[in-house]
Parts: sequence; C-alpha cells; structure tokens
Amino acid sequence: MSQQYRTRPLGSRAALNEAYDTALLDLDGVVYAGGHAIVHAVGSLSAARDGGMRLAYVTNNALRTPAAVAEHLTELGVPAEAADVITSAQAVARLIADQLPSGARVLVIGGEGLRTALRERGLVPVESADDEPVAVAQGYGGPDMPWGRLAEAGYAVARGLPWFASNTDLTIPSARGIAPGNGAAVEVVRIATGAEPQVAGKPLPPMHRETVLRTGAERPLVVGDRLDTDIEGAFNGGVDSLLVLTGVTDAAQLLAAEPRYRPTYVDRDLRGLLTGQPEVTAEGDVVRCGGWSASVRREELVLEGQGGELDGLRALCGAAWTYAGEGSCGLDAAKVLARLGL
Ligand SMILES: [Mg+2]
Repeated sequence: MSQQYRTRPLGSRAALNEAYDTALLDLDGVVYAGGHAIVHAVGSLSAARDGGMRLAYVTNNALRTPAAVAEHLTELGVPAEAADVITSAQAVARLIADQLPSGARVLVIGGEGLRTALRERGLVPVESADDEPVAVAQGYGGPDMPWGRLAEAGYAVARGLPWFASNTDLTIPSARGIAPGNGAAVEVVRIATGAEPQVAGKPLPPMHRETVLRTGAERPLVVGDRLDTDIEGAFNGGVDSLLVLTGVTDAAQLLAAEPRYRPTYVDRDLRGLLTGQPEVTAEGDVVRCGGWSASVRREELVLEGQGGELDGLRALCGAAWTYAGEGSCGLDAAKVLARLGL
C-alpha cells in the first residue's frame, strides 16, 4: 500500500471525456444488465466518442469471444469492433504464453472465448487430461458446462500441471438472479486438489496490462460498477476511476470502502463521462461539495445543507473516508443516505 490514500473524490473542471483519452469500461452493470442496455448508456457513450474519447470494453467474462461481445454491443446500439473488447481470456492467454513455449498444449475448461485467445498466442487448446496437456486454463463455461469438465481439470491439476484461471469472480449476474461464476468453479478444483491457480482477471495486474497493451491508452479512465474488481483494478494499476451506481455497488458500500476500493469519481450513470466533476473540499474534518457539508460528530455521520443528491454523496464520501483513514468506515449511513434518496 502506498503512503497516500484518497480521503475524498476528486473534482475535474474538464468533462471526463476530455480529461482522459480512453475509457476502459466494464460491461455488466455499466453498459448492459443481462440483455438490456443500461439507462443513458447508449446516448452517453455515443456522445463521449463523438467528443474524441476512445472507448474500450474490459470484461472478466472469458466465455465469449471479443467478436461476439462486440456484436452484442452493436445490437444494443453501442457500435463496437472486436478490437475494442478486452477479455480475461486474452489476459490469461498472455500470462500462459509468457511461461510456456509456443505450440504448448493447454487443457481448456471453459468456452470459445478462451480457446480463441489461446490460439491467438500460439498455444494449442486440448479437451482432455489424456491429451498430454502441459497446463490447465480455466474460464467461465456458461450455465450448461457439465460437472465432468471440473473433473477433467481436477485430474490434470492433481498431476501437478500449472493451473491458470481467467478470473475468480464468485458470482455472475443472470436474468434470473445471481449464479455461480468462474471463481466458484475454481474453488471446486482448489478444494479437490489443494492447488493454487495463477489468476489474470480484474483486479489483478495481468488484466490491466493486457488492456493498456491493446488500447495504447495514455490517460485511461477505468469505469466500473464493482469496487473489488473494477475500482481495485484501477487502484492496482495506478490509474483514475469512475464508479457508476447502475450496477452492484450501492452508496452505503461506497462510504465503507477501504482505500483500494475508493474511486476517483462517483456518478449516477454514464452521463458522468460528459460532464466535469464538482470540487470536494475539506476544512478540518468538514467536507463540502455543492451545497452540502458532511462530517463525523460523536461517532455519527452528519449531513447539512441542500443540493443535488450526488453532491451530498461526494461530501459524505469525504467525511467517511477521512474518518476511516486506511480502514473501512463502519458508521451507519442509513439515515443520511435516506435524506439523499440513495
Ligand atoms: Mg460490472
């Protein structure tokens, strides 16, 4: 951990799509939810791009190929090419290729996205532990992946083969609720074998490195909805981030965030890309944003003033993060957030 940590969100005079050259956008909970585009996503992304910002889509989901993801985005009204999509399958394929010779046989537990990414790096995907693999690559296999695939991984990993996971997200959102994600499948193999995989996906450095290599971004802005993947990945990569509240993170979780989970900016949705961000100022332990002042008095979060609800949240972030220092603010925020309708 660095000596310095963020105690309040930053302001920006320039619109974010002018202050940064490339948006590294998470997909689920940011651009779409299940089969539908998130409110204001299509128009905001189109305007950000017209304003000169490069848009890249960064997903921990290794199931689909970048071409398939780009096609889905285009159908939703967000025109994208395969080269605009970076997946954890690509990041794990590079991680494997850095350690194994070209032509190495890799047992694939996962989907077409992973096979395609391995071939792209000169590796040879195989389907059985009996096909003489020299490594195992595990990515999300979709809801219909048979249990036997995990057994296949287990046989090979138990023999001592190096084991790689695209990502370790425990859950994956679906139209019917929260389903087990690749991290849950990785846990099955870990419990059965006692082995530890090397992991590529957000928030770890291989994914950030893949993203920067593929986009050539010089001033990237990570845009995400999850503190422990998107925002922590930006923190680990030393780049700025925008949290949007259209996905899994609510205002109370944001206030409780430890330093590595604290975004540079917070906004309601992707319209935040098109505007500047208000200054959040601190005087002693009173933090101000817009018409609001927030502080902690007698172990209680206090919010005074009036104005936009997002400005109130930014002021509260300042008060809660200052109070928490390097830790997590455990104060109950229900009352002040209710006042903001958040
Ligand atoms: Mg997400």
